[in-house]
Amino acid sequence: DQQPATTLPLVTGRVTASHGRHFFVTTPEGDRFEAHRRGKKGDVVVGDIVRCTPPASGVCAIEAIEPRANLLYRSDEWRVKTLAANIDLVCIVFASRPTFNPWFIWKALLASHQAGIPALVVRNKCDLPDENDAARKQIDLLRSIGHDVIEVSAKSEPDVTRSTLLPRLTGKASLLVGQSGMGKSTILNLLVPHAQAATREFSEALDLGKQTTTAARWYDAEADDWRGAVIDTPGFQEFGLAHLALNDILRAMPDIAAHASGCRFFNCRHLKEPGCTVKAALERGEIDPARYDFYRAVAQGADTLPL
Ligand code: GDP
Ligand code: ZN
Repeated sequence: DQQPATTLPLVTGRVTASHGRHFFVTTPEGDRFEAHRRGKKGDVVVGDIVRCTPPASGVCAIEAIEPRANLLYRSDEWRVKTLAANIDLVCIVFASRPTFNPWFIWKALLASHQAGIPALVVRNKCDLPDENDAARKQIDLLRSIGHDVIEVSAKSEPDVTRSTLLPRLTGKASLLVGQSGMGKSTILNLLVPHAQAATREFSEALDLGKQTTTAARWYDAEADDWRGAVIDTPGFQEFGLAHLALNDILRAMPDIAAHASGCRFFNCRHLKEPGCTVKAALERGEIDPARYDFYRAVAQGADTLPL
């Protein structure tokens, strides 16, 4: 006598944390459970909407992944790995102390642009001095090329910071990135006060040690005054830029592209070609040399495509 195959409906949820082949899934009702992925490695990422066998039997299995709106990559040593999916806004946090690296911000903007995700630059620690006006000059540059920049002090002015951020974040899934020490955790805790408790829950469920290797964690806001999600990136170092075309770089760098229309060669890469109007503008001081250095670094690593 054969038992009929069970046809319990699959449970749909969001992947909110990951560790190897183990995942933490949260349903729209707020139920949370652990799930694993059979066989295939690396194809489920935080932010994915997945369908799983019901968790009643203990650890359940992810059977299907819904199509993604977008996908971001991180660079891990020499390899490019997935970071997060279905992100609506990339929030790039920087501050004047410790010293920020502009390349971090620019690379984050490039990665967001490539993934088709809007970005918001958050300058934190406005209460601290700004050596050589480095932060101020960076903000002016970013605004001049069309980026949205806000200035906050998460620690000394938490309420103002919150009310500055909430209108931009409401209804969205916002990925928080920043070099360490810029105030990312301070901002996360302002936005999602239960983040620390949720992190403990992730760690226990996924059996993570204190040093976790998880790249992203998804927190749904449960406050009275806002709905949305914040995705933290603990231990994140930098974005991965796989298969970047020269066109993508130039579209994300209008300060370089503005000078690229007069080049002698239609497929000029603006590196060493003769008759290059980008190099001419650089020599005349019309392009920020640091921006050109960054352009050169990513263009040399990029696929070569004609303009
Ligand atoms: P993370 O490494 O980016 O997560 O940074 P943290 O949130 O841990 O913050 C690093 C340090 O900067 C901590 O000592 C914070 O208290 C401090 N900090 C965060 N925001 C501000 C701010 O707006 N002003 C000042 N002066 N310090 C801040
Ligand atoms: Zn050129």
